[in-house]
Amino acid sequence: MFSKKIVIATLVTAGLFGAAALTLDVDIRVKDSPVATATPPSAEWSPTTGVPKSELDVYYPGSEDLNPDEMRIVALGTGQPSVRPKQASACWLVELGNGDKFLFDVGSGCHERIAAQKIPYDYLDKVFLSHLHVDHYGDLASFWLGGTVMNRLTPLRIWGPTGATPEYGTKYALDLMQKMYVWDVATRMGFVDFRGGALEVHEFPYDSVNNVIYDENGVVVRSIPAIHTIDGAVSFILEWKGLKFVYGGDTFPNKWYVEHAKGADVAIHECFLPPTLLVTKQGFTPSEGLMVGSQAHSSPEQFGKVMSLVKPRLGVGSHFYNDFDTAPEVRDRVRKTYSGPLALALDYMVFNVTKDDIRVRMSAIDEEIWPSPALKKKNPPDTSKMIPFSDFIRSGALALPKVVGPIFDEVNKKYGTKIEPTWK
Ligand SMILES: [Zn+2]
Ligand SMILES: [Zn+2]
Repeated sequence: MFSKKIVIATLVTAGLFGAAALTLDVDIRVKDSPVATATPPSAEWSPTTGVPKSELDVYYPGSEDLNPDEMRIVALGTGQPSVRPKQASACWLVELGNGDKFLFDVGSGCHERIAAQKIPYDYLDKVFLSHLHVDHYGDLASFWLGGTVMNRLTPLRIWGPTGATPEYGTKYALDLMQKMYVWDVATRMGFVDFRGGALEVHEFPYDSVNNVIYDENGVVVRSIPAIHTIDGAVSFILEWKGLKFVYGGDTFPNKWYVEHAKGADVAIHECFLPPTLLVTKQGFTPSEGLMVGSQAHSSPEQFGKVMSLVKPRLGVGSHFYNDFDTAPEVRDRVRKTYSGPLALALDYMVFNVTKDDIRVRMSAIDEEIWPSPALKKKNPPDTSKMIPFSDFIRSGALALPKVVGPIFDEVNKKYGTKIEPTWK
C-alpha cells in the first residue's frame, strides 16, 4: 500500500552529472513497507555489500535485473524540440520483466542515451513513433544503421501512424529514409552481417481509437489519436500483467487521452514551457509563445488538468527544458490544476513500476560508457554484395605493406587467423 504522503526529493548530484549541480523536481510516492536494511558494518570497514542494487539511490544501467512482474521505464529524451546537452528530444524506453523492450519515439539526440543503457542492440528491435516530427524520430536512421554494426541481427520493427494522405504517413517517410541512406547501406552490405538492416514497418490508422496495434508475448499496445499541428499524431497505451503505461507524444488536451489513459500506472503527457518563458528565454513573440505553448502543445496548466481527469498512479510531465529556474514555475503552474503524484521528467530518470510501488530515481551516467557489445553470433558478410572501387580510386591507394603487414601479423598470430589485407 502507498503512503498518502508526498515526498519532494531534491538531489544534488554534481559528481554524477558534471560540474553543474542538478536539481531534480519530482514528487515520489513511497511505499509503507520497510526498506531492506544493509548488513551491519563491521568494526573496521564501512559496509560495501548487502544492499541490493535495486535499493540503491541511483540506477546503474545494465546492473539490475527486473522482477517477473516489474516494469522499468527510462526517460532517454525529455527536452523541447531543439536538443541540448542536458536533454535530448523525445525518447522513452520501457523494459518488462519478461525481457521485452520497447522504444517510444527516437527523437534527435536520444541515440547516445539509448547506447548508455548498455542493452545489446539485438534486444532493441521495437520502436513506436507517435508522429513524424524530427524531435520524435530524428535519431531513427542513426539507431537503425548504427545497430547493424552493433550486431542487431533481426529486422528493426517500427510502428507508426498513417497521415491524412499517404505522403504524410510513416510508411512513406521510412521508404524515403531508406532511399536517403542508400549510400550508407551500400557500404555496409558486403562488410557486415546486415540482417539487422531490414526494416519492418507497421503502419496503422492514426484515427483508430484504442485499437490494438501490437499483441505479442502478453504485451498489448493500443493507439489513440492525438491533436498536434495536423492530423497524424497519436498516443500509445502499453499494457502487460495488469500494468498500464501511457505515452502521450505531443498533444493538445484531448478526450481520447482522458478516456483511455484512465487506470494508468504511469501516464506521460507533454508539459511544455509556459508561454511567458518561451518569450523571455527563447525569444518567441507573445503570439508564437501562446500558439506553440498552449495550442500546438500543452502548457503546464493544461497538462495538470489532463492528469486531474485521468488520475494516474504517477503523472509525468515532459517535453520542456527542466532546469533550476524553470522547474519551480512549471511545477507551480501544474499545481494550479493537479494535486496528484507528479514527476517532471529529465533525461535518465528511471521509474521502477510494480503493482505495489512506483520508484523514481536518476541514472548514474558517465560519458565514458560504451555501447554494449553484441551477444549473438554474426554470420560472415556476403562479400558478393561488396561494391568495388573504381580504377581511379584504386589508383590512389598507398598500401604501405611494411606498416600494415605487422598489424595483420599481430592479429593473425594472436587469434590464429590467416587474414590478408585488401590493399596490397
Ligand atoms: Zn511534435
Ligand atoms: Zn515534440
